[in-house]
Amino acid sequence: MEKLEQMYEGKAKKVFATDEKDKVIVSYKDDATAGDGAKRGTIVGKGAINNRMTNFLMQLLEKQGVPTHFVEELDDRNTVVKKVEIVPLEVIIRNISAGSFAKRYGVEEGIVFDEPTLEFSLKNDDLHDPLINRYHVLALKLATKDELDRISEMAFKVNEVLKAYFLKLNVKLVDFKLEFGRTEDGSIVLADEISPDTCRFWDADTNEKLDKDRFRRDMGGVEDAYKEMMHRVFGEQA
Ligand code: UDP
Repeated sequence: MEKLEQMYEGKAKKVFATDEKDKVIVSYKDDATAGDGAKRGTIVGKGAINNRMTNFLMQLLEKQGVPTHFVEELDDRNTVVKKVEIVPLEVIIRNISAGSFAKRYGVEEGIVFDEPTLEFSLKNDDLHDPLINRYHVLALKLATKDELDRISEMAFKVNEVLKAYFLKLNVKLVDFKLEFGRTEDGSIVLADEISPDTCRFWDADTNEKLDKDRFRRDMGGVEDAYKEMMHRVFGEQA
């Protein structure tokens, strides 16, 4: 497969066209942003870690019946994925209170929920990704009812699979963000990434943060946290 012109550059990834019209190559960068773009930096080695972890988890999810955009890992930073139209929603699942949930509702972090929650944010940097509900999504024609049902069902399924998987690695899956895409034939697939950039991971014994919150909150040990998650997932091969 040939890597052709760059189509798009996001905060953490670049997307390139290929010689196959239904496939693109995503290229993971070490760049990190937080606080609505106010904070910028580099997390050395992050691109390779997020690429490999995302691809591994996407394949695990496929085996459990969740369709994804994953096609083929080319190297440490580059992966072929199906070209999709991204549904402009950030789909957030939470198992434990943290981050914006704790802030918005004035509660402490670490409350374990009886049932996972789901919320949508509109993917729009200029508007600062505002929270949006199902009715608003329909009013704005961002997705159909059937698509929203499918997206919610898939997101909860992803949570069940990943929560169980990470617990075996002694990691609590606190919350995470997913994005979905429409393929050529109109079906919904899981897209984007699943990594310490997009998930909150806490060590199950100590609650030590093993994710991007270390960068967001200037806690130090950012690279080590990403490496630790890489080791838990890949063991000696990391
Ligand atoms: N998240 C993300 N991208 C975003 C916002 C959130 O990947 O633009 C992830 C974040 O890593 C966390 C979950 O979604 O795992 C919930 O984030 P939250 O709403 O608490 O926002 P934050 O506190 O990160 O601003």
